[in-house]
Amino acid sequence: MTRRALSLRVYSFHEHPNTERLMTTLHHSLWRALGLSLLALTPFVMPGAQAQPAAPALEAPAGRAAKQAGTAARDMVAAANPLAAQAGREILAAGGSAIDAAVAVQLVLNLVEPQNSGIGGGAFIVHWDGSDVVTLDGREVAPAAAKPERFLGRDGKPMPFYDAVVGGRSVGVPGTLRLLEVAHRRWGKLSWPQVIAPAMRLAEEGFAISPYLNGIVTQDKYLQNDPIARTYFYGEDGKPKPVGTILKNPAFARTLREIADKGADAFYTGEIAADIVATVTRHTTNPGDMTLRDLEGYKVEERAPVCGSYRTYRVCGMGPPSSGGVAVLQMLSTLEPQDMASIRPGPDAAHWISEAGRLAFADRALYLADPGFVSVPVRGLIDPGYLKTRAGLVSPDKSMGRAKAGDPPFQKTEFRFAPSDGVEFGTSHISVVDRDGKAVAMTTTIEDGLGARIMTRSGFLLNNELTDFNFAPEEEGKPVANRVDTNKRPRSSMAPTLVFDADNKLYAVVGSPGGSQIITYVTKTLVGILDWKLDPQVAVDLPNFGSRNGPTEIEAGTEAEAWKSALEAKGHQVRAISMNSGIQAIVIGPNGLTGGADSRREGVAIGN
Ligand code: GLU
Repeated sequence: MTRRALSLRVYSFHEHPNTERLMTTLHHSLWRALGLSLLALTPFVMPGAQAQPAAPALEAPAGRAAKQAGTAARDMVAAANPLAAQAGREILAAGGSAIDAAVAVQLVLNLVEPQNSGIGGGAFIVHWDGSDVVTLDGREVAPAAAKPERFLGRDGKPMPFYDAVVGGRSVGVPGTLRLLEVAHRRWGKLSWPQVIAPAMRLAEEGFAISPYLNGIVTQDKYLQNDPIARTYFYGEDGKPKPVGTILKNPAFARTLREIADKGADAFYTGEIAADIVATVTRHTTNPGDMTLRDLEGYKVEERAPVCGSYRTYRVCGMGPPSSGGVAVLQMLSTLEPQDMASIRPGPDAAHWISEAGRLAFADRALYLADPGFVSVPVRGLIDPGYLKTRAGLVSPDKSMGRAKAGDPPFQKTEFRFAPSDGVEFGTSHISVVDRDGKAVAMTTTIEDGLGARIMTRSGFLLNNELTDFNFAPEEEGKPVANRVDTNKRPRSSMAPTLVFDADNKLYAVVGSPGGSQIITYVTKTLVGILDWKLDPQVAVDLPNFGSRNGPTEIEAGTEAEAWKSALEAKGHQVRAISMNSGIQAIVIGPNGLTGGADSRREGVAIGN
């Protein structure tokens, strides 16, 4: 059995408020145990896993498989599925830009990893064109009819999570396709039909169902209730189509052809739009209220990038409505006074990173939401003076337990603290660097694995992103920042990130799925690359650990479990849980590109 399989044993039910989510988590561990066991048995080889010349890589932990790692001279793509990464690589080889590759990768992911992202969902792009960082927000939007009480039951209390998720109620107006189009118009080199072609070909000719997709469908109990999804994902015997089955999606091929001919308008108006609205509003048990006007009115927003320094580096990420960029910068800033390079991976590192997480998550819960509805004090939250005071709250010897939100300068809030965080799986991250040194970090989601469990006739699943809003609109009689509202975007944790060196040269492209854990995963990886000088594959595969201002979480089945007693001695309440990241990282060194794709999922980093 692999080390990952151990997480099956260390779980206990009361660790999870929601048993169904636990089952999802368990399933992921199982999938990993089965799907990756061969990899784990092979001796540790890292094709091209090279040390940065100035910074020797640490020894790779024993037994760690790294088939995912890659090196390249000119360009690279790291994505969560080999077919998707290959599509991106072909586009790059044909002279395409980073964004051309990202479009191809996303559309192929929609087919081969449909549980995690697609044109039925939303995404953020952080783009580097060689001189500027631009961040684009393609987050889903609540329909005009959405009200703050959307996720309250008849008793006025927040609904059970899956009562809200499954069906039309949780579906936000999808943003991913408009985002791809806007980005492609701005930075694309190849034609729009050219970047769509790889996905269209695969949709027509079919692709083999992967262990990950099969595993997710097998464990899910809602998807089979959707008639279109049932025909697509299940055999005539009612069982999920097995691993290796060649799956064709002619409906999606037609959709892509329309989109190739008419652009994203083909999706946001006309027949496909009508199909989306019908799928959402005609759901038999939990209909939603999305309209054609909602779809037609969807807009991608360009947001100010959130940038800050970490040691000699500059780190840039996604601002609100994502909490990702702010929280990652806050965590790094809390770590900066420590000599993380000599602390090394271990219980002390877990202590500092957990405490940094507590502080960041306390602020996140109070302040972060859609900036169109709430005045988010971004400037104050990443103000160096403020962060220095916050970092001063961390003791080297004792955990602070639960952190309180701070009082950042420049702005006051009228909102109430409202924690609500699950661990979701319906997300994917794409990192690309092209031959001109342009880069894309794109994190893309349909929220929970398999989203709202409803599939359109046009061949794609719809998101359940609206459950990223807080269900309870008020706490202690005051509104919570991330409550549902008309045309509002739910708060995200997605943290597509770019790192620049002291000469403002692009150094790294990083991101991950994992719900609110994303913030921890990305921070860990950045510390691994920037402080511990690890090869990106090794940094990605380090055990996950951190805190979201609750218990200190360590990844079950990894060597981090051995850190438990040292952490407890500092007063941490430690929980070993599955921490199923899907980090994709590319580092640009003087001799080319080195990439890593999370061995917890199916990704690869490949290039030319
Ligand atoms: N919907 C989540 C977010 O935007 C991400 C879920 C996931 O990572 O699976 O923060």
